[in-house]
Amino acid sequence: MSVNLPLLAFNDVYRVSQRFVPQPGSPEEDVKPDAEIGVGQFGQLINTIRQEWKTQENGTQDGLVLFAGDVFSPSVESSVTRGSHMVPILNALKLDAACIGNHDFDFGYPHMTKLVGDTNFPWLLSNVVDTLTGTTPVPLHRFYVTERCGVRIGLVGLVEEDWIATIPSWPNNFAYRPMKEVGLELSRELRDPNGPHRVDIIIALTHSRVPNDIQLAKDLGAVKDRDTQNEQGVDLIIGGHDHIYYIGKGADSWEGYVGLRDRPGTRDDDGVRLIKSGTDFRDLSEATLELSPPNENAVRRRVITSLTGKHHYVTPASPTSPKLDKLVKNLLDSVTKTLHQPVCYTITPFDARSEIVRTQECALGNWAADVLLHAYDESLVEKNARVRFEKDGADGEGGKTLTEGADAVIICGGTLRGDSQYGPGIITLGDILEIFAFDDPVVCLEIDGKGIWDTLESALSKWPAQEGRFPIVAGLAVEWDHRKPPGQRIDSIHLTVQETEHNDDEYDPSAEVLYMEQPDGTRIEIKQARVKLGEEVKNVEGGRTYYVITRDYMAKGFDGFEALKDRHMIVDHEVGQSMSSIIRSFLLGSSFIFRMTQPAAEAHQDHLDHICSRTSNLLKRHRTLQCSPSQSIASSPSKAKYDLGQFVDSPGTSPMHPSFKNIVEAATAVKTEQVESSISSISTSGWGMLRRHVIEHDWVTIREALHVAKHEHMSDVDPCDGRKLRHQTIYDKTPPAATPRTGTPGLLVDPKRKAELKDLAPDVAIVAPQVDGRMRDIASDDGEQES
Ligand SMILES: [Zn+2]
Repeated sequence: MSVNLPLLAFNDVYRVSQRFVPQPGSPEEDVKPDAEIGVGQFGQLINTIRQEWKTQENGTQDGLVLFAGDVFSPSVESSVTRGSHMVPILNALKLDAACIGNHDFDFGYPHMTKLVGDTNFPWLLSNVVDTLTGTTPVPLHRFYVTERCGVRIGLVGLVEEDWIATIPSWPNNFAYRPMKEVGLELSRELRDPNGPHRVDIIIALTHSRVPNDIQLAKDLGAVKDRDTQNEQGVDLIIGGHDHIYYIGKGADSWEGYVGLRDRPGTRDDDGVRLIKSGTDFRDLSEATLELSPPNENAVRRRVITSLTGKHHYVTPASPTSPKLDKLVKNLLDSVTKTLHQPVCYTITPFDARSEIVRTQECALGNWAADVLLHAYDESLVEKNARVRFEKDGADGEGGKTLTEGADAVIICGGTLRGDSQYGPGIITLGDILEIFAFDDPVVCLEIDGKGIWDTLESALSKWPAQEGRFPIVAGLAVEWDHRKPPGQRIDSIHLTVQETEHNDDEYDPSAEVLYMEQPDGTRIEIKQARVKLGEEVKNVEGGRTYYVITRDYMAKGFDGFEALKDRHMIVDHEVGQSMSSIIRSFLLGSSFIFRMTQPAAEAHQDHLDHICSRTSNLLKRHRTLQCSPSQSIASSPSKAKYDLGQFVDSPGTSPMHPSFKNIVEAATAVKTEQVESSISSISTSGWGMLRRHVIEHDWVTIREALHVAKHEHMSDVDPCDGRKLRHQTIYDKTPPAATPRTGTPGLLVDPKRKAELKDLAPDVAIVAPQVDGRMRDIASDDGEQES
C-alpha cells in the first residue's frame, strides 16, 4: 500500500523575534513599518499543522519535525546566554531530530554537549568520528531510526567539510569522512533486510551549501527521474547552512514557492529531491512524501513516488502561541538580568565617546582589536598548514609559521557604540553588548599591501570630521599626517611583532611604566611594552598577501571601505562570530585560567584531568607565573606592588626588584597592568587575600584565553546561569526577578568604587585598555596640531 508521510522542516534560526521584512512570495498584507514576527508564531504554525496529523497508538504523530542545523548562535541573546536560551524553545517546538550545524560549535564543543544534552530530541552527525573513541562525538548520533505511518524511517546527518576548517574550536581528534561514502555505508547498514533496522526510506539532514547538497543528492540517488530502487543511498535531503529557500527540481509541486531555481550554485540540479527552508523562524517547509508500496526484493523497500509541499511564511498576521510567547518572555527576562552581571573591571576607562573613537587612536579600540586579531587563530593556522601542504608539501619559504594566525585587524571607530565613557570600574555584560552592538560577523579576508594602504587612506580621509570610518587597527603600526591631503596621509605602515610564546626568562626593558596619579595620592601603575615594528607593508599591488580581520559590514565595502570589497574570504560571514561573542569568550577564558591556577583549583584535580593538553600546559605555566610570593615577600607586604594583580596600600614608587623574578616577569608583558590602590584592609589581611585577576594584554595571553574558552567548560565562570535557562519549560510561571544595577561610574578612589572592587569575585578579569601609538599622527607629535 502506498502511503503519504508528512514532514515539517526548517533550518538556521537565530532571532527569537525580528522586524518583519516581506519576502517575495509571502502573502500580501497591510503591514505597519515596525511590525515584528517571532518564534511564538512559528511555533503556533508548527502546532497547527501537526494537529492535523494522525496520532499512533504509542502517542507519536504521523509526521516528523526536522531541523537542519544552526540555532545556538549568533544572536544578541546568544552573546549573553551562549545559546542556552534556545534549548527550552527547541524543546517546546517538539522536534523529532536535528542535524548539528557549524554555529552550534561557536562556544566550543564542551559547551555544545551541554546545549545538545539538555534538548529532548536526537542530534545527528554521521560523518565525523571521534578518533579517541572510534564513535560519533558524544552526545551526537550517527543515525536515528523511527516509525511513522507504518514506515520505518532512517535519519542521518551529513555535513560538508568546508565549514569544519573554519571552526576555531574543532577538536583535533574529530575526523571528517566524506558525505557520499558515509551515506552509502549507512544505507547498507540501515536497509539491510537481515539487520536490526530494516528501514523503508532514509532522509539525510545536511548542513551544507546548495551545490554540495545537489551533488550529494545525485551521488546518493535522492533524485526524481532515475530508477533508484536497487541503488544504495538516501531518498530525500533536507538541508541547512544556506539561508535561502530552495526546493530542488525533483519536487512535483510546491505551493508558495517563487522559484529561485536558477540561482548560482543550482545549475546542476536536474531533478534532485532537496528542501532548503530559508532562515530565522520565518520560513517553514511542509512536505508530503508519497511512498510506493513496500517491495521486499528491492534495495529500497519504498521509494518516493511524489514529493509535494508548501512554503509557509510567518507574517505579522500569523497567530501566535501564548505559551511559547510566555516562555520567550521569561527567557529574555533572564537575559536582561544577566546583563547587569560584571564581566570585567577596567582600570582605564572604556572610552567610547564618538569624538574620541572617530578621530584618534583609542584605548578601547586597541584593546578590542587585539582580541579580534586572535579570534580565528586556530582555524587559520590549520588552514595555513593545509594550504602550504597542498602547495609544496613542506614549509614554504617565507610562508607563515604555524604559530601565526591573522596579520592584522582593521575595523573603525563607528564600530564602537554607546557614545559614552564606561568605568573605570565594573563593566557589565550589558555594557559590552552596548559598546559592541553590531552583530554582523567578524570575518577574515586576504588582501595585498596596496589593499591595506587604500583601506587605511580612505579611513583617514575624512579626518577631522567625526566619521565612523576612522581606523582602529591591531597588528599594524601606521604613521600618518593629518596635514597632508586626503588620500595621501599615510607615511608608512608596518606589521607589529610580539612574542609568539611566553618567554619566562626574559624581562623586557623597553616596557614603559605609566603612572596614573589619583587625587588622593593613590597611584595606579600600568606597564606597557612599546610597539615593535616588524616587516613594512608596502603600497604595492600583488606581492605578499595578508590575512586581515574586519567586520562583514566593512568587507562588503560600506562606509568607505571599498578596498576591502570582493576579497577572497578566509572566514566568511556564514561562519564568522560576532564581536561581542568573541570578546566575551576572551573574558570567560581569562577568568577560567585565573580560577584554575589558584591554589583552591588543586582541589579540582579531577576536573583538570578532562581538559585538553594545550590547556593543561598553559595552566601549568600560568601557575608558575602566579605562584604565591616567596617567603621573603610574604613577610614584606609593602613590596606587593611587584605582583601584578595585587592591590596594596603603599603609595609611592618602587623600582623593579630583581629578586622577585617570577613576579617581575609576569609584569613585563605588554600592557600589563600593575595596580596600587589604597584599600585599607589589605595591610592586615596579608598575602594572598586580595590576589586579583589582571589580564596581561599580550598576544599569547589573548590566544590562550580564547583557546580555553573554546575547548573547556566555561559554566563555572559564566555569569549567565545557562543550566537554569536551559531547564526552563513552557510551563514556567515565575519569571526571575530583575536585580537593579549596582554601583555608579566613578574613579577608582571613589569609596564606593573601592568597595565594589573588594566585593568583586576574584576571578573577574581586570583590564586596562591602552593607547600605545600604533596609529601615530606625526602632525600631533610635532606639536603642530591646531587646537
Ligand atoms: Zn551554517
